[in-house]
Amino acid sequence: MSGGTAGRGLLVEGAAAVATLAGGLRRGASQGEAAVLSGEALCVAAWEGRILAAGTQAEVHRQIEAEGHSLDSFERLDARGGLVTPGLVDAHTHLLFAGTREAEWQMRARGAGYLEILAAGGGILSTVAATRAASDDELLEGGRARLAKMLANGTTTVEAKSGYALDVAGELRLLALADRLGREGPIEVVPTFLGAHAVPAEFRGRPDGTEAYVAHVIGEQLPAVIRQGIARSCDVFCESGVFDAAQSRRILAAASRSGLAVRLHADELAPSGGAELAAQLALASGAEPAAPPAAASAAASGAERGAERGCLSADHLAAPSDAGVAALARAAEAGRPVIATLLPATSWFLGKHRFAPARRFIDAGIPVAIATDLNPGTSPTLSLPLVMSIACIEMGLTPGEALAAVTINAACALGLGARIGSIEPGKQADLVVWDLPTIEQLPYWLSAPPARSVVKRGRRVFERG
Ligand SMILES: [Zn+2]
Repeated sequence: MSGGTAGRGLLVEGAAAVATLAGGLRRGASQGEAAVLSGEALCVAAWEGRILAAGTQAEVHRQIEAEGHSLDSFERLDARGGLVTPGLVDAHTHLLFAGTREAEWQMRARGAGYLEILAAGGGILSTVAATRAASDDELLEGGRARLAKMLANGTTTVEAKSGYALDVAGELRLLALADRLGREGPIEVVPTFLGAHAVPAEFRGRPDGTEAYVAHVIGEQLPAVIRQGIARSCDVFCESGVFDAAQSRRILAAASRSGLAVRLHADELAPSGGAELAAQLALASGAEPAAPPAAASAAASGAERGAERGCLSADHLAAPSDAGVAALARAAEAGRPVIATLLPATSWFLGKHRFAPARRFIDAGIPVAIATDLNPGTSPTLSLPLVMSIACIEMGLTPGEALAAVTINAACALGLGARIGSIEPGKQADLVVWDLPTIEQLPYWLSAPPARSVVKRGRRVFERG
């Protein structure tokens, strides 16, 4: 029963379609099932930050009454014949950085490769230098500006990696700043420790530089990150010429023993054993499946923590080996799915014309998410709708598959699938109202249609115009 204080309830009404994404993690044939309600005057009701009901106006009003609430205590949001989706989840970003890298972008257009730019001390190391030199306020200001644009594009939850400091104090600072931005809201920020993003300049002169840096990450950075208690997971850039599979395994095993979930950048440029490692970590863990049952309960529930063990995601995967794809398929089949988090905007921006084999993953039963990979070197975009468009055009995803990839599957890739990523009673009320009648039009309009209204935890947090 409720006292019905105004502001506790929100009623979105007048929608032409509601893509609920109900039913948990998508893989294989279900990847494309967006669970769309269609008809006239559809509604979604939220109460105290959680979804109460979705359906026709009559159904939703009935449910509101059954819960003992008065319609008068619901603030109204007119969807005006638009589409309602869950708030989008960006499961792979490098949110906090200083500087831009348009010069390198032009150098690449003249034929220079990623590893060549890296070897020349450019690329990621120029961002590391700029980020180390930036003040907290400069980094926060940049992060806030980016988050504001992401919100306007319908994103309500963002993963944010460290990895542009590569020393103990600097990595802790990036995690703390990401955490602070999340506390400011309205976008929820999920911090990831990525000390093993690259080997910093001060280790490169040594013959054993990479090994010495791996030992530093495991022996110095990781324990400090655990003591700080902000990072939710640990990531590694597993790639030939950066951190090999054996080094990546040592870092991720240490992180896992310390209680962090693990994920990795895998097989972006060449088959490097990344997909195989992800599958092995998942199968070796005693983890709960990353696919939680639909619905359920409160934030930071046992299910949510359980879903964070194991290997949550293998990201990029533009060049996996056949054995790597088979291993990921076996992990999914065994109920230990590793989410293949694909980053097509990166392949597109790099002009490589080599995209992750998304169709092959889906056919093999591997769950697929897509993310922006927001970063100043290889993916300067803040728009998940644009990434959906690229995924449909270049990787052959259907709009339904792409929508699942930025909602429920992306939520599962963060270990948050029990709380966010779909519109189901009991889940957090993160919603987007789009000026579009169907899910097909979301990736169809290449200019990345901004959201009309965004709701986070049951509150309106963005209105266009
Ligand atoms: Zn990345």
